[in-house]
Amino acid sequence: MSKRNIAISLPSTGEEEWLATKESILSGWLTQGPKVAEFEKQFAQYHGVKQAIATTSCTTSLHLILVAMGIGPGDEVLVPAFTWVATANIVMYCGATPVFVDVDPKTNNIDISRIAEKVTNRTKAIIVVHLFGLCVDVAAVREKLPPQVKVIEDAACAAGAKIDEKYAGSLGDAAAFSFHPRKVITTGEGGMITTNDEDLAVMMTKLRNHGAEISEEQRHQGPKPYLLPDFNILGFNYRMTDLQGSVGLSQLAKLEQFIKERQRWAQYYCEVLADIDWLGLPEVPANVSHSWQAFVLYIDPQKAPMTRNQMMEQLQELGISTRPGTHAVHMLNYYKTQFTLTDADYPGARACNDNTMAIPLHNKMNADDYQYVVNALQMIV
Ligand SMILES: *Cc1c(COP(=O)(O)O)cnc(C)c1O
Repeated sequence: MSKRNIAISLPSTGEEEWLATKESILSGWLTQGPKVAEFEKQFAQYHGVKQAIATTSCTTSLHLILVAMGIGPGDEVLVPAFTWVATANIVMYCGATPVFVDVDPKTNNIDISRIAEKVTNRTKAIIVVHLFGLCVDVAAVREKLPPQVKVIEDAACAAGAKIDEKYAGSLGDAAAFSFHPRKVITTGEGGMITTNDEDLAVMMTKLRNHGAEISEEQRHQGPKPYLLPDFNILGFNYRMTDLQGSVGLSQLAKLEQFIKERQRWAQYYCEVLADIDWLGLPEVPANVSHSWQAFVLYIDPQKAPMTRNQMMEQLQELGISTRPGTHAVHMLNYYKTQFTLTDADYPGARACNDNTMAIPLHNKMNADDYQYVVNALQMIV
């Protein structure tokens, strides 16, 4: 097979997204407005939750959730040690302390058996991360926690993912999704909060819009033009634009199809790569519907014929782009120095940091691309 160039991930946007954006531009309503409202409504319906609140990113979504929950200095928030750095950063934004919990290298997700030992009387919340689109068993997590501890889902990778027929975003007290182009559906940048807690939703809606008591739309449509909103709390500007809302609506309509296609190719990878003994394949419990934001392998350093990094270089030369799964946050310089941590503190996270490798899987790949990736991996001896 001749040389190909296969990206680790590509957004699946096209004519529909372009036309949707154009409609918003021509409408003259550019900031958060009717398209965002419709996107929120449909996103909430799809994920089986009462409320969805669009924002500028998953990071700002998580920030709003923590602020609305009243988390601040002196409070502790449990966070898996292997996740995108934003999960821990937002705890720092609030002046609270992230307390790391090790992960299980078999799932890349939080090791539920290690949660209880980290709980103190300062623990206010836990952020569970459905990493790469694999849902954490949130019911099992709750059993390890005192009832007043809030469970927040970092569902950045998990739009459309399910466990026990319940969608990500409906499992905890609140959840945050990402629409960065690296995720299954995208709005360029963008995020969404979901929750069934009406009071929390009201609070987050205000916090998103500078803390204003009424929204821009209400104000513009309202009968009293002299009224400016009242501000009783310190808020932010985390509003999504209607251009993004339009793109989001087009993308959401394709989510199910995108995931089906990803599931089919993930299964293909798992079947044809099964007999490579140094390769750890992702395992999906029977009650889970994985959204496959990324397909992440575990390279066994004892058995593999070369290091993971050498392998990544070799694949790059063949035109196949790969990435480490993500990073161990406790190994990043900022966290190391803030909390005097060493790499060995979280062995599961360290193993994932050093040995995971995401290979291409996205909705712009064809059968020949997948075959090419498989051939390249089979040639590694
Ligand atoms: C992508 C990602 C984020 C950040 O999402 P943004 O929308 O870019 O802020 C946070 N957590 C996890 C697990 C992610 O994968």
